[in-house]
Amino acid sequence: MSTLRSALDELRSTEVLALSEEQLASDLDELEHATRVIEVERSRRVAELERRGTYARDGHLSLASWLTTRHRVAPSTAAGHVRMARALEAMPVAAEALATGDVSSSAVSLLASVREEAPEQFSRSEESLVDAARTLSVDHLKDVVARWRHDHADEADDDRQELFLTPTLRGRGRLAGDLNAETTQVMITALRTVQDADVRSNDRNDTHSPARRRADALGEICRQWLDASNRPVVAGERPHVIVTIDVESLGRSESAPGTARHAGARLGGRLADVGAISAADALMWACDAQVTRVITDAASRPLDVGRTTRITPPWIRKALLVRDGGCAFPDCGRPPSWCDPHHVVHWTNGGPTALSNLVLLCRRHHRLMHHKRFSVEIVDGLPRFRRADGTVLETADRAPP
Ligand SMILES: [Zn+2]
Ligand SMILES: [Zn+2]
Repeated sequence: MSTLRSALDELRSTEVLALSEEQLASDLDELEHATRVIEVERSRRVAELERRGTYARDGHLSLASWLTTRHRVAPSTAAGHVRMARALEAMPVAAEALATGDVSSSAVSLLASVREEAPEQFSRSEESLVDAARTLSVDHLKDVVARWRHDHADEADDDRQELFLTPTLRGRGRLAGDLNAETTQVMITALRTVQDADVRSNDRNDTHSPARRRADALGEICRQWLDASNRPVVAGERPHVIVTIDVESLGRSESAPGTARHAGARLGGRLADVGAISAADALMWACDAQVTRVITDAASRPLDVGRTTRITPPWIRKALLVRDGGCAFPDCGRPPSWCDPHHVVHWTNGGPTALSNLVLLCRRHHRLMHHKRFSVEIVDGLPRFRRADGTVLETADRAPP
């Protein structure tokens, strides 16, 4: 270990600026090789520590949790190390090929994941699969592994899939899963269709990453499905998103800053499964919704439940659609199915649900409006948008020459 340390010190003292490109490249080769050897050596020690149950002595329930605390790494990183250690123990040929630098750890991870599905068959094929890993790129190896799975893993396994969607403590959600070929393809096609429509909406200010667009697309697909009228009925009702909003935060929407409030007053609202949301988001949800008044006592026990009413009736919605076509924000152009009616003056502040007080906005622009990044007014029967600094936004075709 002391030799390793002095080798590392030597590495650290190298002046990379002074190295030629050939030296840099061959250094990288050398380092990649060393990384593979180190990975195997770490795995051997991790496996041995797990066998000895060292973590239990410190009150940890798993080696991954012990590693997370000891090295202050993300739980997923520690779990990855433990998984790799177990896999390499079960794949001696692959472990040897990794240690001699013949195969990459990406290739070994790939082999490890397929081994989990059919361990016994894998042992019989390990030699030939590792041989493939020696010569093929990871992408080509994926094809070989897929074919091998097809021939060897159970059909039942092929159909195996799972999806985890967990609300987090921060009031967000974490998505993870493992899908079968069919679901994966259907999902890619659906997401791509929505993303393409999104790109076509030619929003000049839109600089969102593909990952962000995929997340938006997934939300949009679910929202439109919930909006569809032919959905199945559950417990006598079509399922919908339930937002609970405190009356005080509704009344507060446009009130002057610095309005005195007693400490501990509830602000914003709650989404049934996710938890608290901000006052701005609560108002956005309330902007166009079916509203049910429920009066509760201090312990949140319902005392009185009012009739459910739709904020924007269908005939006003239709007129709005004719006037705005889709999202009315300059150069957005997202179609009506992506849009909600927005109240210029919120109905909780007495704003009427009338054409003169409504603007059709896509989810994204609707959110920007409620978060005060832009504002909108109706001038001569048409919406006019302003930036937060008060300057007017012009559309490309309406802009003065
Ligand atoms: Zn709104
Ligand atoms: Zn828009």
